[in-house]
Amino acid sequence: MKKTVLITGSSRGIGRECARYFAKNNYNVVINYNKSEKEANLLYNELKDKGYSVRIFKADVSNRFEANSLVNFTIGEFERIDILINNAGISQNKLFTDITDEEWLNMINTNLNSVFYVTQKSLQYMLENKNGKIINISSIWGMVGGSFEVHYSTAKAGIIGMTKSLAKELGPSNIQVNCIAPGIIKTDMLNDIDDEILECLREETPLMKIGNPIDIAKCAFFLANDEFITGQVISPNGGFVI
Ligand code: NAP
Repeated sequence: MKKTVLITGSSRGIGRECARYFAKNNYNVVINYNKSEKEANLLYNELKDKGYSVRIFKADVSNRFEANSLVNFTIGEFERIDILINNAGISQNKLFTDITDEEWLNMINTNLNSVFYVTQKSLQYMLENKNGKIINISSIWGMVGGSFEVHYSTAKAGIIGMTKSLAKELGPSNIQVNCIAPGIIKTDMLNDIDDEILECLREETPLMKIGNPIDIAKCAFFLANDEFITGQVISPNGGFVI
């Protein structure tokens, strides 16, 4: 039986590459987008044209109702969720003292509460089947803290805490929960960062390179196919954080 992967925020960047990688490797893939309808449809058509098993669903995962609908859609289409990749996220560079209440809440809702919503709903199905793998996308900044992005780092650190505690709770039900904490990866998320700063970051990285979305997709695929790793944080970061 073909396995099903639900990837939140897969219209662009890391999520999109995960969708391509899992589809190519014979998974049913559910693409989720919120704002980038055009990019999501392009990806959907690209995968469909290759004969892959793929569906697409618009949902703002920071909203409990829409997150539930996304999971229900997945079950409705494929009758199962084997792998959940909680990837949707936003970033913002701002001095802590300038962050407004609205920006803080938006960050926590999008980057942390979404993981709670989609995971909790997916577990209705995973627990019934006593099977499932949850892969949460955090960040190196959730591990070591990032200045000018305290709200982002807080949400990403929360994901690490959620991963570890949930792994303990769900292990006896044969559900693995792990976390990927990427380093600097070339996606739209870096658009606001000057080329000069990016070059400095590259030079500071022991492997002397910025990562690509495929580096994270391969890591997610590895975790999706492992049977003994749970509660762990894996950080593909070129050695930037060791
Ligand atoms: P990206 O290219 O900006 O893509 C972000 C994705 O998240 C988009 O597909 C976007 O969809 C989706 N998204 C945002 N808000 C959403 C919402 N409310 N509901 C549903 N989808 C939503 O960024 P990326 O670099 O691929 O980031 C993916 C994940 O990796 C994020 O969690 C990010 O924090 C993490 N990460 C990235 C880096 C990096 O250097 N790039 C490093 C560490 C961690 P729409 O455009 O359709 O709204």
